Order: sequence, then structure tokens, then C-alpha cells
Amino acid sequence: MSVLVYTENWDGKFKKLSFELVSYATGVAKMLNSTVTAVSVGKVEETELRKLGNYGANKIINVNNEQLVSLDSQAYAYVISEISRKENASVIIISNNNTGKAVAPRLSVRLKAGIGSGVSKLPLNLNPFTVYKRAYSGNAFAHVIIKSDVKIITLAQNSFGLIDTANNATIENINVSVDGSLLKTVVKDVQKQTGKIVLTDADIVVSGGRGMKSPDNWTPLVELASLLDAATACSRPVSDEGWRPHEEHTGQTGKIIAPNLYIAVGISGATQHLAGVSSSKYIVAINTDKDAPIFGSAQYGIVGDAMKVLPRLVDAVKAIKK
Ligand SMILES: Cc1cc2nc3c(=O)[nH]c(=O)nc-3n(C[C@H](O)[C@H](O)[C@H](O)COP(=O)(O)OP(=O)(O)OC[C@H]3O[C@@H](n4cnc5c(N)ncnc54)[C@H](O)[C@@H]3O)c2cc1C
Repeated sequence: MSVLVYTENWDGKFKKLSFELVSYATGVAKMLNSTVTAVSVGKVEETELRKLGNYGANKIINVNNEQLVSLDSQAYAYVISEISRKENASVIIISNNNTGKAVAPRLSVRLKAGIGSGVSKLPLNLNPFTVYKRAYSGNAFAHVIIKSDVKIITLAQNSFGLIDTANNATIENINVSVDGSLLKTVVKDVQKQTGKIVLTDADIVVSGGRGMKSPDNWTPLVELASLLDAATACSRPVSDEGWRPHEEHTGQTGKIIAPNLYIAVGISGATQHLAGVSSSKYIVAINTDKDAPIFGSAQYGIVGDAMKVLPRLVDAVKAIKK
């Protein structure tokens, strides 16, 4: 019996998400007195694969078929199900991101395995196997009991964190041949963003809301983000208005993030917004309204006009960095 974790790579490199998944899998394996087998699909160098051992993986199965160079949820679900059977996995852990949402249900059908989706804590109980997830935009929580022999957990991104557990993992290179009829996805063109910190990976996020008043006022916010090596984000109305790109929208209907520091500028703190950012370690709010709900979730607050506060923050950070 082992805990299997599917790790995603981007152009052969793992991101924080994969290390978080392995950290979580290690926690589950400890509870079960079991071991962690990480599965990597695609071309990843050995030095990169070894990094999974730093978070507790005991074994790394590296599948590097030509057929599987780009994500195909049907084919990947097949590959993970085959490895899961071979490893006699009792728990399978996948991210609750878009890839996980496409792969996990297919895997569930293949393995007749129940799913706990969007889980954000280690299992509460092993018998019955009970997982915890937030519900209703974080205003409630649910305890989900998974009764099947094999259990799938999709982990909410940034909900667990990274835990160093050095392990000298073994690497097994295998080839799982996939029936061509399963391969339905053809990638014709890839357009990559360059030079931007990925929002879901960022340690610091500077985010603007409708209180920024106009898309023309974003310069000091972007400058502050750049000085802090932070990603930029926004509330939903801001992206709906086209002031900022949709990929920056955080909240219930946008990205769920949990950086160390979230600076919310001119954001009221509606529950739908907080649903995406409330797991941040520290929230700093800048708002003209001292009664804005965001102050209820923030550890630090500045009551003031963003147009005056942001340039002063920029100057202060520049002075510190000199
Ligand atoms: C089904 C559903 C899903 C939703 N999903 C999301 C979601 O995923 N993400 C999301 O963000 N929203 C979401 N919303 C919208 C959400 O309810 C709020 O309307 C939205 O978050 C408000 O955005 P805001 O805080 O930028 O704007 P506002 O609520 O207009 O707040 C602006 C804030 O700026 C302050 N302000 C004004 N001027 C200044 C100034 N000069 N300096 C500093 N502060 C100033 C004001 O005091 C105010 O607090 C959703 C709504 C629904 C119904």
C-alpha cells in the first residue's frame, strides 16, 4: 500500500504546487504508516525529479513517453490508474487545479474510487476516512467521508504549504503505452507569458480593486509589485471592466491564492473576494473606508487614499532597497 501523488511539471520543471502535493502526500502517508510514490509524466531531468525527494517522496516513477508530451486528461488518467494498480495505492493525491479537475474524475471512474475534492487539510480521521474542505466560499466547511477502497484527494492549491522532509528517493523510469484512441488532445500552438511572476506561485501579491478608480491609476501598484518581486492581482469587477486581465482575478470565481503577503488596495473585502485570498498568511489592506470588511481579515491596515499611499510605499521600499 502506498500514497500516490501526481506531480505536474511545466517544461520539465516542477513548481511550488507539485512540492506542496508531495508534502501533503507525505503527511497522509505518515498517518497511514505508508510510503509516498510520486508520478511524473513528461520530460523531466533526473536532478529535477530528485527535488521531489526533498518533500518526502520515497519513490519517483518517471513516465516519459513521446505520446504523453502534452496533457491529455483521458490518457493521463489511464497512465495514473495503471501505476496506481501496480503500486497498490490506497490514496491518490492530485491538485485541485484545472488539470486535476479534468484528470481526477476520470481516474475515479477507472479505479472505482471516491473523491474528496478541494480538500485543504490532512484527513481528519482514517476510519471512516474523512477529509475537510471549505464550502460556500469559505463561509462553511464540510467533512467528506470516502468509503471506497481507493481514495482520491484533490488538494486545494496553496492550502497546505511546503514541508521539508529529505528523502533519498529512488527513481524508476517506465514506459506506459497508451492506446491511440485515448489521445484526443492535439496542441497546435502554445503562447507563453514571459517575465511575469505566476500569481498562484507568488510569495507576495499586490492586488487592486475598484477603489483604484481607473485603469490609468495602476502604475504605482505595478511598480510596488515589481519592487517586492510580487505578482499583481485584482478583484472581479476590475477584470470585468477590462482594467486588468482576467488571469489576475482572485476570488470565488477566480484564482485561489495563499501567498505570504497579500496587499489589498481599494478592495472592499466582499466574501466572494475573500474566498480566494483569505488563506494568505498576512493581509495588508489599504482603503479609505475604515469600516471596509477587508479590515476584518487584515492583520495590518492603512486607512487612506490609495493614490497617496501607494507612491509613499513605493518610495519607502526603494529607500530600504538602496
Ligand atoms: C456569484 C458571485 C461571484 C463573485 N466572485 C468574485 C470573485 O471571484 N472575486 C471578486 O473579487 N469578486 C467577486 N464577486 C463580486 C463581489 O461580490 C464584490 O462585488 C467585489 O469583490 C467588489 O470588488 P471591489 O472590492 O474591487 O469593489 P468595491 O466593492 O466597489 O470596493 C471598492 C473599495 O475601494 C475603497 N476605495 C474607494 N476609493 C478608494 C481610494 N481612493 N483608496 C483606497 N480605497 C478606496 C472603497 O472604500 C471600497 O471598500 C462575485 C459576486 C458574485 C455575486
